Amino acid sequence: MRTINLKALSKRETELFVREVGLPAFRAKQILHWIYERRAQSLQEITELSKGLREKLSERAYISNLELLNRQISRDGTEKFLFGLEDGETIESVLIPDEDRLTLCISSQVGCAMCCRFCLTGSLGLRRNLMPHEIADQIIAAGRLIIPRQITNIVFMGMGEPLANFDHVVEALWRITELMKISPRRITLSTSGIVPKIRVLPERVPLVNLAISLNATTDAMRDSLMPVNRICPLGELLQACREFPLPPRRRITFEYVLLGGINDSPEDAGRLVRLLRGIPAKVNLIPFNSSAGAEFRRPEEERILEFQRILSEGGVTALLRKSKGQDILAACGQLKAKCRRSAGVGG
Ligand code: SAH
Ligand code: SF4
Repeated sequence: MRTINLKALSKRETELFVREVGLPAFRAKQILHWIYERRAQSLQEITELSKGLREKLSERAYISNLELLNRQISRDGTEKFLFGLEDGETIESVLIPDEDRLTLCISSQVGCAMCCRFCLTGSLGLRRNLMPHEIADQIIAAGRLIIPRQITNIVFMGMGEPLANFDHVVEALWRITELMKISPRRITLSTSGIVPKIRVLPERVPLVNLAISLNATTDAMRDSLMPVNRICPLGELLQACREFPLPPRRRITFEYVLLGGINDSPEDAGRLVRLLRGIPAKVNLIPFNSSAGAEFRRPEEERILEFQRILSEGGVTALLRKSKGQDILAACGQLKAKCRRSAGVGG
């Protein structure tokens, strides 16, 4: 008989499973509570079920877990986890402490198909989409590893383009909000700008925060840095942002990777102010994080500050993101988990 991975089931599927094995409906609630809130790694850990019942269920079902393959801690406190998936692929998640927040940056795909020129994940190409449980499990696994600390915020800024794995990300968001009980206000989804999906997102999930990786102020420049712009150009992207149903007092975050001599001029800063007019926005400036063989460089400090000053004077809140975890290659755009299979291990 095939065994079923309980973690791979949606809430509804868990209810159906419980009914199918002849158990009362409240057992589904218990199982979901133990998997998502108490982070049970096996049926044996669900002590609320009798031993006999656990054994009976074990004949039909199991609970999968991400396998921790490596854990690195940066000098600045950032931590990077390398997780193995059941098929031997690997992904990375990054834990970022910041004052009273503890943010987990999670992956949505193995690799990424969007081919942004400045991003190391993009150079991997897409190996595969993550399943909903593989997305949510990063929070469960990291949460267990850092006890007694608690993750306060989630950002979809790890490997992959979340809106290119739309249905699985939507299902993962339901599990994260409804079953793990993390408020959507504490979740941020970052996208390179797949406009049709930005438009339907609010109809499908509880309203999470939206971040857009903008990175350029003209179509010509954005076309050359981010191929997605050739299909969803700036005008359409910003129009979708204008029409995005933001709750009161919330803003869209625009990420802007500063590439020395490419998109960091005072003219760019001025254009950015004009582009964002009419959108409740804040800008995160991210000086380029380098990697071996990179074709770009980080701008000089003065130029970065000048860019930020022009935005502020134009009335745009602009935060300069200190890149965390650079010494362990955990900063934005540096994630590139190696596949265990191709490395000849496991599989
Ligand atoms: N695919 C989604 C989610 C990943 S977020 C997206 O692109 O939005 C990763 C963020 O890191 C993006 O804002 C991207 O613009 C930024 N980034 C990518 N490569 C970078 C690099 N080398 N240096 C600094 N930031 C980078
Ligand atoms: Fe993919 Fe985002 Fe990297 Fe672009 S910046 S290649 S969309 S992960």
